[in-house]
Amino acid sequence: MQLSFLYFVIVIIVAIFVGVLLSRGKNKNRHDYSERPSEAKKKAIGERGEQFVSNILGKNIDGKQYVINNLLFEDKYGNSCQIDHVLINQYGIWIIETKNFAGKIIGKENAREWLHYLGNEKFEFYNPVMQNATHIDRLTNYIKKKSVFHNIVVFMYDADISGVRSDHVCGVTKLRKILSDSSNKSLLSPKEMEKYYSILMSLKQSCSIDLDEHIENIKSAQYKIQNNICPRCGGKLVLRKGNYGKFYGCENYPKCKFTKEIK
Ligand SMILES: [Zn+2]
Repeated sequence: MQLSFLYFVIVIIVAIFVGVLLSRGKNKNRHDYSERPSEAKKKAIGERGEQFVSNILGKNIDGKQYVINNLLFEDKYGNSCQIDHVLINQYGIWIIETKNFAGKIIGKENAREWLHYLGNEKFEFYNPVMQNATHIDRLTNYIKKKSVFHNIVVFMYDADISGVRSDHVCGVTKLRKILSDSSNKSLLSPKEMEKYYSILMSLKQSCSIDLDEHIENIKSAQYKIQNNICPRCGGKLVLRKGNYGKFYGCENYPKCKFTKEIK
């Protein structure tokens, strides 16, 4: 009797152990919704998304497609820019930002801040379509043909993007189709693809800063913006009036087009 009770206890313990292992395996690629992740965890989650997308994009195929992951470069003012992925194919140059967020995302294409609901918490983040548009603006200093650029923000599985209003945003399951959709207009010849790839690669290779310095630069830019200093050219941000109301703009407009919303 005592022995069978012992067996019973052992079986229960093993069952619990196996159950925990199974559920951990199942949730390995999902987020924990119960709390806000730490900075280190957020970085790791972001990197996992980027790795996933770089697997979808694949490798260079001569004359057909060129891929650059994590393109870090400096613009003419010495500002650092980081682009998660660039794909060059016959349909153009795709500038791709990856977001590995869990929870609900709310955003409009021309709103500066988007909302991210995680459990009971709400966070604001900078509109990634606008962020990409800034990257494209900067790249047109080196590749003058703006019409060849495409702006794509891709969200991973855990995000609910039904509240996002922008044609530039897609879920990761649609990415491959969008990039290879033959209803797109062919814009680039194999020669042009190769030329643009080598321009972007030389930008990447000549960049003197690393990712940590880039993150420091972002923090210092945020500090400048808070203190009404233009993060792009160092000019003062002055109050201006436009068609949609008042805003802060750089004193060096039109040379510098940086603007800041009034909250
Ligand atoms: Zn400026």
